[in-house]
Amino acid sequence: MLRRSRCSVLARFSRSSASLPQPAPSSRRLELVSDEIPQARRTAVALRQPRDRWSRRLSATALLLLALTVALVVVFPGLFNRSGAPSSLGRLGLRPAADGRLLGHFPYGEVDQGQLVAIAPGLQLQREAASALVAMQQAARADGIELVVLSAYRSVATQNRLFFEVKSERNQTARERARVSAPPGYSEHSTGYAVDLGDGAAPGTNLAAAFEQTAAFAWLQANAARYQFTLSFPEGNAQGVNYEPWHWRFEGTAQALRVFEPAQRLSR
Ligand SMILES: [Zn+2]
Repeated sequence: MLRRSRCSVLARFSRSSASLPQPAPSSRRLELVSDEIPQARRTAVALRQPRDRWSRRLSATALLLLALTVALVVVFPGLFNRSGAPSSLGRLGLRPAADGRLLGHFPYGEVDQGQLVAIAPGLQLQREAASALVAMQQAARADGIELVVLSAYRSVATQNRLFFEVKSERNQTARERARVSAPPGYSEHSTGYAVDLGDGAAPGTNLAAAFEQTAAFAWLQANAARYQFTLSFPEGNAQGVNYEPWHWRFEGTAQALRVFEPAQRLSR
């Protein structure tokens, strides 16, 4: 009897919490129900509490997991590197640092081929970078400077050959090679945003520190930012990569800024 009355109380309680019109009490049982409402409230609250507590705990756990994942992606981008770095690096026993860098170089994914446009035979860049580069070359030409593109987009496979074949030809260790060339999967060239530039009037300085003495380099230092290009590896850079006055990267879109944010953060 007590059990049945409690069920009725609960039913009555749900109806009133849903603000439905209530039938007028017409029996002794309903009067009893009214008398027992405070107890019913206590019962209802007691029944609801564990479920609320668990759902609150579940929400808090889910939020905590989400926050941890975001923190891991931000602090250790290398853990989530999907650059497709060849396993040849693993065979060398090389392991990225906590910030994702390998021998000083940040990991970079390979741009989708559909994003690339040709700027010259065999040379491609991402569309916005290509437009900016062509505009920069025209402005330089108007000032009597011939900016020659020596290298632009490079696939991870090409970078793999560049790194290991030249390393072998020069009898270099991976660390020595990485001072002047990024390991495959870690080159800014794979993003389609980076270029190596030379001075048409001084081809002997191509890809050499002597490029810094050319009129083209002086022009770039004075004007490249206007076209959203920045020097990736200035002298004494925090990444520990050799000074490369010829290597410039495009940072003129939000996407490009995001790609180079880890490198930017380190240089600040
Ligand atoms: Zn380069």
